[in-house]
Amino acid sequence: MSQIRGTLVARDSTVNAAGATPSQVRILPTEPLFPEMGKRRIVNGYIAYWSRNRQTLYEHRLVMENIINRKLSPNEHVHHINGNKMDNNPSNLEVLTNKEHSAKHHPKKEIHPKKCPTCLKIFNPSINKIKYCSSKCACFGRRKVERPSLEDLKILVSQSNRCKVARDFGVSETAVRKWLKVKMYK
Ligand SMILES: [Zn+2]
Ligand SMILES: [Zn+2]
Repeated sequence: MSQIRGTLVARDSTVNAAGATPSQVRILPTEPLFPEMGKRRIVNGYIAYWSRNRQTLYEHRLVMENIINRKLSPNEHVHHINGNKMDNNPSNLEVLTNKEHSAKHHPKKEIHPKKCPTCLKIFNPSINKIKYCSSKCACFGRRKVERPSLEDLKILVSQSNRCKVARDFGVSETAVRKWLKVKMYK
């Protein structure tokens, strides 16, 4: 990739003549590791040199190639262990495959089994955001009415009747029947 999006930066603090505004100019934080390769630049947040044919040569890849004493293949990525893309200290670099590398940067959120708050069944949500085991449970669960526990509800109903309990909670008798029924299939 010879695409250059980074800021042009001189090796020392001298401003490059490329017309960069002061805010675009940053002083590179480290000493050049390959001074014979000329001026360094920041490309996509990485320190890079130009090759003779104007290709971008990333310093971290050059360091790694020196360590392993061979060329890196395009599928071999060099990862910055401490997250600082400009820290090209050999101890901060590791070779990863394309796949391993993207896994490091975009770790998949683990999805854990959940307890459905409506029916109390343990289920595996397809994504972490899902709270209820089914749309049916979600429908009951999202009611604003604070529901009693099943035990309490059974006691209340046995002490009076569903109709009275429904009135006490400000819901329909059908709702109370559903509360009792839904909770039963746990
Ligand atoms: Zn990385
Ligand atoms: Zn449920």
